[in-house]
Amino acid sequence: MIESNLNPCAPAFSRRVAVLFDIDGTLLDLRGAGRAAFVRTLATVFGWRDDIAYINFAGNTDLNVLQQIFARRGARLTSAARRSFFAALPVELERRVAGAELIRHPGAAELLARLAADERVALGLVTGNIEACARIKLRTADVLRYVARGAFGDEHADRGDIARLALRRVAASLAPGERLAGVFLIGDTPYDIAAARAIGATSLAVATGKFDVAALRAAGADHGLADLADTTAALHILGLA
Ligand SMILES: [Mg+2]
Repeated sequence: MIESNLNPCAPAFSRRVAVLFDIDGTLLDLRGAGRAAFVRTLATVFGWRDDIAYINFAGNTDLNVLQQIFARRGARLTSAARRSFFAALPVELERRVAGAELIRHPGAAELLARLAADERVALGLVTGNIEACARIKLRTADVLRYVARGAFGDEHADRGDIARLALRRVAASLAPGERLAGVFLIGDTPYDIAAARAIGATSLAVATGKFDVAALRAAGADHGLADLADTTAALHILGLA
């Protein structure tokens, strides 16, 4: 009787779950290569010698970092300066990744592979990296093929705005008749948790960055895991187990 109510023409999965991923500290860690590329690019593009020790990169966005550096120097960040910097940054990052120590956080690639193959899922990125740097990092960790869509750190300074844009792009990528049944954001800092809240997403925080599970829960994480090593546990949280 129940089956008689099903429309045989309906797609097998008309409801999708959006799963949005942060990159640094969540999927991988390049041990300071991003910071080193930033420092070198400041020197090559602006002639500034600045170790930017005062910058906290965890959960930050590349545009916000650049704005912080300019504000500290009392300099005006013009769109031309911004363009020049973000054109040169991936060139410096590319030079550094070859010799950098790459950490693939436990289970991250496996979870991405499972989600990318799951028709119920729409994957996306919410990252503070500019797109070219995001692609370099994901390629280095051999996970670029799983996820390319998203929003990036030169599009907005605020991570909540980046999340909003990423969600809009993921929603726009759905086939006719499909709609999002849920949105999750996976990240490693309180900024990711705040970004999830900004878009009404459920946050899954992982303690593979600078914050432990207790700190992430205190920051309001809906779910907290030490890492993504237990794929089944992560899928269960995402309602996909
Ligand atoms: Mg992060």
